[in-house]
Amino acid sequence: MQTHNLGYPRIGNHRELKKACEQYWAGKIPAHQLEQTARSIRSFNWQLQKEAGINWIPCNDFSFYDHVLDTCLMVGAIPERYHQLVEEKKLNPIDLSFAMARGYQQDGLDVTAMEMTKWFDTNYHYIVPEFRAAQKFSFFHNKVINEFMEAKKEGIQAKPVLLGPISFLLLGKEKEEGFNRLGLINNVLPVYLEVLKQLDANGAYFIQLDEPCLALNLSGVELEVFNNVYRKIKTAFPQLHIILSSYFECYGTNLPTVLSLPVHTIHLDLVRCPSQLNDILATEFVKSKTHLSLGIVDGRNIWKNDFKQSLAAIQKAIDTIGKERVWIAPSCSLLHTPCDLDNETNEKVLTAEIKQWLAFAKQKLQEVVILKQLANGENNSVLQQQWLANTNCINNRATSTLIHHPAVKQRVANIAASDDQRLSAFNIRQQKQHKALGLPLYPTTTIGSFPQTKEVRSWRAKWKKGELTDAAYNDLLKAETEKAVRWQEEIGLDVLVHGEFERNDMVEYFGEQLAGFVFTENGWVQSYGSRCVKPPIIYGDVYRPTPMTVEWSSYAQSLTKKWMKGMLTGPVTILQWSFVRNDQPRSETCTQIAFAIRDEVVDLEKAGIRVIQIDEPAIREGLPLRRENWQQYLHWAVRAFRISASGVQDDTQIHTHMCYSEFNDIIQNIADMDADVITIETSRSQMELLDAFAAFKYPNEIGPGVYDIHSPRVPSATEMVALMEKARAVVPKEQLWVNPDCGLKTRGWDETKTALIEMVAAAKELRQAI
Ligand code: GLN
Ligand code: ZN
Repeated sequence: MQTHNLGYPRIGNHRELKKACEQYWAGKIPAHQLEQTARSIRSFNWQLQKEAGINWIPCNDFSFYDHVLDTCLMVGAIPERYHQLVEEKKLNPIDLSFAMARGYQQDGLDVTAMEMTKWFDTNYHYIVPEFRAAQKFSFFHNKVINEFMEAKKEGIQAKPVLLGPISFLLLGKEKEEGFNRLGLINNVLPVYLEVLKQLDANGAYFIQLDEPCLALNLSGVELEVFNNVYRKIKTAFPQLHIILSSYFECYGTNLPTVLSLPVHTIHLDLVRCPSQLNDILATEFVKSKTHLSLGIVDGRNIWKNDFKQSLAAIQKAIDTIGKERVWIAPSCSLLHTPCDLDNETNEKVLTAEIKQWLAFAKQKLQEVVILKQLANGENNSVLQQQWLANTNCINNRATSTLIHHPAVKQRVANIAASDDQRLSAFNIRQQKQHKALGLPLYPTTTIGSFPQTKEVRSWRAKWKKGELTDAAYNDLLKAETEKAVRWQEEIGLDVLVHGEFERNDMVEYFGEQLAGFVFTENGWVQSYGSRCVKPPIIYGDVYRPTPMTVEWSSYAQSLTKKWMKGMLTGPVTILQWSFVRNDQPRSETCTQIAFAIRDEVVDLEKAGIRVIQIDEPAIREGLPLRRENWQQYLHWAVRAFRISASGVQDDTQIHTHMCYSEFNDIIQNIADMDADVITIETSRSQMELLDAFAAFKYPNEIGPGVYDIHSPRVPSATEMVALMEKARAVVPKEQLWVNPDCGLKTRGWDETKTALIEMVAAAKELRQAI
């Protein structure tokens, strides 16, 4: 029996990579210092996994920005607009990858960034590969070989991890019409074969090929490509040991193909799909020689593994195919969990009772190893103790009185039909709102947050450490808010925001004030590039003990005669970006949150806030990976949003905001949410993402983002007018708003100011053209 790990968090135990990258981008540290940080993170992770006793430790799971982007560099899929950066500017692969991810605006060059989208149903974002019909591939960046050799020098025979060729193509996008990207497989495969050849020559033994697209609904043609590709790999390298891994869902209808592939090991996500094991063990597969990697420790959540339950599954596998063919692993890469529970030392933040229920990446590896030892029949006093401790923690959580609040359960059980209905239909509300708000055509607004400068963050840090009093901290935030309000008035925005300076993160801020949530001090996970989030942990029934945002919104509104937009995070997003309970259905938890947000919306209205935005950027990413499960999810998710939004009068305008807006197949559900205004991210796709709304004749108002906030690049008014004209061509102007793609918290003030001044100018130009 072997243990392995599919991937370890790459940000560093204390977000060292984030800090180094950001300093490097700001020109504050040289390249070699950035690389030194990266090397020490890799080394730390490898040694930690070795000490945990994992047999096969991954390499190439590290990335400076994103592993899909790294794959683009590996196979030389560099979009043409970056070629001059290689040829003229001689950018090295790391700088090139940063330019591709973030755009490049320097020395008279102005190159836009690549698109980014959610990695399956996670809150991790990958860079979307771009393909052309005549796409050429070549082995361009040998990062995987370098990392393999680097591990070797540290005395570790690592298992290189690569995103498999088919998923690489499927996760990308055609940048011109008339071809299918999967047709490029015969062009890209030779590069993969070359990589495998070099890995083989350098002594690689196991190689993990991730094909997470096997968690999706695939066509017969696509499955045939899997057949061909994996047979070709086997023929080329009969001696290599390929571990094929997919995660986040069952293999479903792809299973027969997967089981027939000539690979050494097939990895199963037994957390998301426990039933899969029995299904497989009931087939002819049992007679084959292929190994099974049992992904039994949850790589997507932070709960301690239930050893008793896991051992039953492992035992079943051992009984049927024998110990030698069984591997034990986390369910997926640990990229999605925080690094180390041992970093949580403040009992006031995370109480001992709750902490004992948890396991982070490091602890999960220990669980994998303990499970192997237990399944192996090993017996010693340490193991016995570990077993006993696990049983105690699992029992403690099941019966803890911290978790259950009858009044909350009651409210959800007694939900009334009217709870998810606004008073009147949209057309009536729209008239009332126009009258009440008196906004011009093409109203301008922003999505909520303004730059979280070093100062703002340092105030919060000091306040948290007790170095700033509540009053002093509040005064600083008030001053910052007032500056933002004055400045928005000055440049002539129509609907203002208070700037969200008091918020660390759009989910954490609410979680901190809701009952049923708990926090960590260091529980960071990567969201995109250097950006990390610290998801709250929902451990118990959720309710809102007191108002959460009313004071800030009222203060900001008191400063101005313009409309101030109240700013909330929606129930689905709070659910989606938290670590959730695994002891009740997600829908149940979501409905509890929806009622808590509804209470806040009603209180904001009472306080005189007439425009309220309930952000739901995570609605789409919450979609189950398999279509057959979509409607069930959408039913409760849309209802949760409606519950949160439906407590107000007709003339209170409810906005919602979503990022990464590929809404083609769920546009009906988006319309069912019935927000008065929806702002979406569209600029990177040149308004292409608006097409779904246009085709559907989406009836409510829409603000298609006119500038990309993920990049420091500043667009011109002309560019934004051009984008809005594209929008106007497909959506009546009476329905259109002008706004950026998303919140501006990650940007600096200078670029924000220039960009928004341009944006307001764009709106004026559009109004004049009427
Ligand atoms: N209101 C949030 C902000 O502006 C929205 C962020 C998001 O959609 N991710 O920061
Ligand atoms: Zn957004």
